[in-house]
Amino acid sequence: MNKASVSERIALIARNSSEGATCAPELNDGPWVFDAQPPAYGPGASMGDVIPVGTPRQGALPDEYKSASNDELHERIRAAKATLGERLVILGHFYQRDEIVQHADYLGDSFQLATAAKKHTEAEAIVFCGVHFMAETADILSAPNQSVILPNLAAGCSMADMADADSVEACWEQLTAIYGTEPDADGRVPVIPVTYMNSSAALKAFCGRNGGIVCTSSNAAVVLEWAFERGQRVLFFPDQHLGRNTAKAMGVPLEQMPLWMSHKPLGGNTESELHDARVILWNGFCSVHKRFTVDQIAQARVDYPGVRVIVHPECPMPVVDAADESGSTDYIRRAVEGATEPTVFAIGTEVNMVQRLAADHPEHTIFCLDPVVCPCSTMYRIHPGYLAWVLERLVAGEVVNRIIVDDDTAEYARVALERMLAAKPA
Ligand code: SF4
Repeated sequence: MNKASVSERIALIARNSSEGATCAPELNDGPWVFDAQPPAYGPGASMGDVIPVGTPRQGALPDEYKSASNDELHERIRAAKATLGERLVILGHFYQRDEIVQHADYLGDSFQLATAAKKHTEAEAIVFCGVHFMAETADILSAPNQSVILPNLAAGCSMADMADADSVEACWEQLTAIYGTEPDADGRVPVIPVTYMNSSAALKAFCGRNGGIVCTSSNAAVVLEWAFERGQRVLFFPDQHLGRNTAKAMGVPLEQMPLWMSHKPLGGNTESELHDARVILWNGFCSVHKRFTVDQIAQARVDYPGVRVIVHPECPMPVVDAADESGSTDYIRRAVEGATEPTVFAIGTEVNMVQRLAADHPEHTIFCLDPVVCPCSTMYRIHPGYLAWVLERLVAGEVVNRIIVDDDTAEYARVALERMLAAKPA
């Protein structure tokens, strides 16, 4: 088991002080070195993905936070937290680096964290150590007097950015032109939009306005059932893999799941293919989960006969098919915690979470399927320097990096989120 954190492992590899490989030794630099470099996301698993025009950009971080040692930053974070007391709640996503997680009041997936924030009505500030769409969801669900703060505005999500509101609206217009809007004899409308939680507030609002719904990786099957009761077919965005893996497990044939490529007329499909479709999949993916392969699983089975392979449903279909199980981050966490006998787990999800599970469960052997240390580059942008900065500004009475969803968008996004909660209570 590796006792060093992911950040420490990357630092050792970058200095040639350790064996092993990282996809991006540059991650050893502070994120401020590459925050302002368009057009890609910088080093890490989503380095090849393009940052959309209009994405928030992080301003300069004061030098004192860039040059401070980790020990000094941790001390400053602890001091600011103590001063702010109940006025502050810090949320940390499972994929955050250990150096951030140690300061979080809650650790969880995006929706667990957004709902956790709701319990703290006394907190004026909710500091969300995650990525942009998560902070938006927390803002939608929190009270108007609470400020949601994203420590580094450059912490986007490359998957969420693969479906922008204009492209989805253009797709919807084309589908509506083909299908019309009239329900069938069973009262089912031609198409229901379903967005994964990993999407902008604008797309959640689009679903709210158009009879659609939000899903998470924990409840995608329940949400698709909800949608099929009300619609003849589903438009699923932005993650093609979650959509395909979930619908396939429900018995939808692959040939009835066309891929929609937004730069092509009719998404690159014929009218007849779209008429036959049950699930139209947006051409989005997570660059972190795309790294997992069938060969890695085969190697794990050679190295550890009897290994239990669990992957996230954002992985491509052949990887999910080759694994023993697939499930959300929370499913993976519960599977490890629930194993009563010492077990070897090979896990296909973000390396920070896998390594933390390994550290917390020395009774098991737990490793990441991908031997290359390659964290999510956008999650990794939340560095203790940024956390110390936003907290010390709060102590000084200044809110920086506040994420605000406008009232109209928030109202309709809430409609889609509430449909999800009604379909499957949290
Ligand atoms: S792990 Fe994938 S889906 Fe999650 S924030 Fe990173 S790029 Fe987005």
